[in-house]
Amino acid sequence: MKINFLDLQSVNNRYDKELKEACARVVDSGWYIAGNELNSFEKEFASWCGVKHCIGVANGLDALILTIRAWKLLGLLKEGDEILVPANTYIATVLAISENGLKPVFIEPDVNTFNISLDQIKKHTNSKTKAIIAVHLYGRICPMDEIMAYANEKGLLVLEDSAQAHGASINGIRAGNWGHASGFSFYPGKNLGALGDAGAITTNNDELEQVLRALRNYGSHKKYENIYKGVNSRLDEIQAAMLRVKLNYLDSDTTARQRIAKKYISQINNPVVQLPCNDIEEQSVWHLFVIKVKNRKVFSDYLSSAGISTLIHYPIPPHKQKAYAEYNHYNFPLTESIHDSVLSLPMDPTMTNEQVEFVIQKINEFKL
Ligand SMILES: *Cc1c(COP(=O)(O)O)cnc(C)c1O
Repeated sequence: MKINFLDLQSVNNRYDKELKEACARVVDSGWYIAGNELNSFEKEFASWCGVKHCIGVANGLDALILTIRAWKLLGLLKEGDEILVPANTYIATVLAISENGLKPVFIEPDVNTFNISLDQIKKHTNSKTKAIIAVHLYGRICPMDEIMAYANEKGLLVLEDSAQAHGASINGIRAGNWGHASGFSFYPGKNLGALGDAGAITTNNDELEQVLRALRNYGSHKKYENIYKGVNSRLDEIQAAMLRVKLNYLDSDTTARQRIAKKYISQINNPVVQLPCNDIEEQSVWHLFVIKVKNRKVFSDYLSSAGISTLIHYPIPPHKQKAYAEYNHYNFPLTESIHDSVLSLPMDPTMTNEQVEFVIQKINEFKL
């Protein structure tokens, strides 16, 4: 048996007819940028998240960069301000801060959830701290109830990085509807994936929404009138049409992911494997199923020879990347131990029970 990590062909094949019809609708319309598909997708995704506004942009990184840029234009942030960010995040989160001339302050994640915790946030908040980026890593939402209560008390802005967590919720409130703004990615491999690049920002704030709509389109509210030095970061009609089709099936894909995760958690019993935290089911949409193993190389080579693909998210933390030479001397022992030992198992909503059981069996048969 051969088990892919994530088979995008079979993911999208399920909607083959609908995707091609939606594509044809756009081709035939003669309208390819900022039209009915984007408008409708923005309304549909906002309503799915339970939030007031959704602003489509070109990708998830732009969603984060433009939100911080908008807060600067609104006078809420300025260059040199500090933003707390989990040290173990994907580099896009950190790039969004440095791109805007602000300072990332890395904090260690919680040892069990791998997400930022209120304890660490409190420990690192000082007079220069102006915002927090809460990254819902691997599909698990951060403790947003506690984080928002603290941030609102201290006057800190909270940006959710929801790129991996479409639909993860606490008390029925979804990612994208907790922070002052939230960035989403619709990269093809994300839980809601376009057939190319796409992203969005969600917010309940009307002023921020207005600035973002202008920023993504050359800083213009009205054709040929530019009030900001904006960028071109638009979610095009074809991708919006693809996303509208796939949004209809996102909840059932999440259920499939949760079912796979449950099976992995209840049936993997090899003591070399440390399973991910799974205390409250609705809190994770299992973008990734990340285990910790010592001897990761031996273990992943073994699975690979059994036909099972795995990946590492991520092998090098941002502060150890060449791109961030200025932070290379920092030490975050927990983050570094996570990067040294994590391994992502196949997680694909189209996996059959037989495939999931094969992965479990091979893992349980592994001996050092
Ligand atoms: C994918 C991802 C992004 C960036 O999204 P793109 O659409 O690839 O630009 C940002 N943050 C996290 C945590 C991600 O996983």
